Amino acid sequence: MLKSLKQWFFPHICCLCEHYTTNDQDLCSVCKASLPWIENRCYRCGLQLKSNENSIYCQPCIESPPKFDRLCALFSYEPPVTKLVTRLKFGEQLAYGRVLGELLAEAVNHLWYYEKSLPEAVLPIPLHANRLRKRGFNQALELLWPLKKGRQIPILLNACSRLYKTKSQSQLKKEYRKRNMRKAFGVNKPLPFRHIAIVDDVVTTGSTVNALSEVLKNQGGVTEIDVWCICRT
Ligand SMILES: [Zn+2]
Ligand SMILES: [Zn+2]
Repeated sequence: MLKSLKQWFFPHICCLCEHYTTNDQDLCSVCKASLPWIENRCYRCGLQLKSNENSIYCQPCIESPPKFDRLCALFSYEPPVTKLVTRLKFGEQLAYGRVLGELLAEAVNHLWYYEKSLPEAVLPIPLHANRLRKRGFNQALELLWPLKKGRQIPILLNACSRLYKTKSQSQLKKEYRKRNMRKAFGVNKPLPFRHIAIVDDVVTTGSTVNALSEVLKNQGGVTEIDVWCICRT
């Protein structure tokens, strides 16, 4: 009753089609269903599996797995999600972060962990202090508020630091990305958790989350790392 009254007085407007929504989100059910939801991906790295691959892992992960244990993504990096993510990151429109964060929370609560225990804590991928100052917010952290509303899960804000101001990954070719990320992160102190999730908005080559996973396992005492992201290319 209270919910429907609230909806009556403060209706939500879909951030994609700009019509009123009938649900409690700024995304209508028609637009939600038409998003590029991910399917048939490698359990470990989240890349598309080839139709002839009969494993849940892709061939590169069988031969040389990344440092993280599992990658959970909502969408392929395609329109209109690209628009939402770009606006979240560069347009400083945090309402987009709330919509994407609500979708992330739904997946964490109802989809990704139905047969597995949840990570003990989540770690939004750290930005370098200069970039954080310039942007004013960490988009990975913004994605976590809707999840935090519903459950008591610690958010690790000071566990790791970005040590070097690495060049923006999106400006670099693949072979340079790995080199760019080497020694990019440091662990401030060992963590009291074994199983954690790293949160990022978009995972492209995976070299950033891989570099962070490596230091968390080597210096942070973490043994299992899941990666949660909105988009996987
Ligand atoms: Zn819509
Ligand atoms: Zn893989």
